[in-house]
Amino acid sequence: MAYLGSPSATKEVINKYSFAFQKKFGQNFLIDANILENIVGAAEISKEDFVLEIGPGIGTMTQYLCEAAGQVVAVEIDKMLIPILQDTLSEYDNVEIINQDVLKVDIKSLAEEKNQGKPIKVVANLPYYITTPIIMGLFESKVPIESITIMVQKEVADRMQTGPGSKDYGALSLAVQYYADAKVMLNVSASCFMPRPNVDSAVIQLTRHRKAPVDVEDEKLMFQIIRASFNQRRKTLVNGLKNSLELDFSKEEILSAIQEIGKPDTIRGEALTLEEFAMLSNQLKKKKFS
Ligand code: SAM
Repeated sequence: MAYLGSPSATKEVINKYSFAFQKKFGQNFLIDANILENIVGAAEISKEDFVLEIGPGIGTMTQYLCEAAGQVVAVEIDKMLIPILQDTLSEYDNVEIINQDVLKVDIKSLAEEKNQGKPIKVVANLPYYITTPIIMGLFESKVPIESITIMVQKEVADRMQTGPGSKDYGALSLAVQYYADAKVMLNVSASCFMPRPNVDSAVIQLTRHRKAPVDVEDEKLMFQIIRASFNQRRKTLVNGLKNSLELDFSKEEILSAIQEIGKPDTIRGEALTLEEFAMLSNQLKKKKFS
């Protein structure tokens, strides 16, 4: 089987199997060999590596990953793609395809079972409709991960790196900053995909911090506070937190914690930095458990 990273090779496979693209699965396949080489190069994969690919599609990037890595596991939700993958990857004996929704896969157990718990690399041209839950899931499930190299919408790549004052600042920005170092590796134009998406894309690499950049006593509580703050962006921080179903603090407790971190009663959540969210969460934790 020839390499698939070109418009003609992709069309040939699509026609051979009468494959119909499913918009609901975010199917935009890469058709540019240069970009594929750059992604796999950016991930610095060697024969020592175990790679998890999310959404292999027809196997375009998987071919490159199989050549570079020791072992590849690719999780694909669309059952129509499974016979295609069996064909396009038939030359490789170091790949396993799992036909499942990646959000339902226990990746921690998978890494333990298949890579003896050693850190894995994640490489993916992500389905954009679930970018945030995939990234949050990888971080929160404490999967041993060396690096995550992923194609995302350009706007999402920007969101990961922004701080207070930008309209793009949100829970994803804070999660990425808390867990990882984020670096844009390359920008990718919409013309590198079939079908062509409406947005430009970027490949971003997330490398997990060895030590968290802020001191937080209860990570789970901090992220509940962060989510509550951004769920009701237009409300003041105190109202956002008071209305959250995940949290159980009185208005007085919240106001006093806000004052303890030196902020006014009227502040909005979107004005706080990661460090300030950590301080707020530590103050609120004290109120309940001291
Ligand atoms: N890796 C291929 C490429 O670069 O050409 C395809 C990338 S395409 C943007 C996203 C892929 O993710 C599609 O194959 C889609 O079917 C798959 N996908 C969508 N939702 C998924 C999910 N929940 N779990 C696993 N795969 C999913």
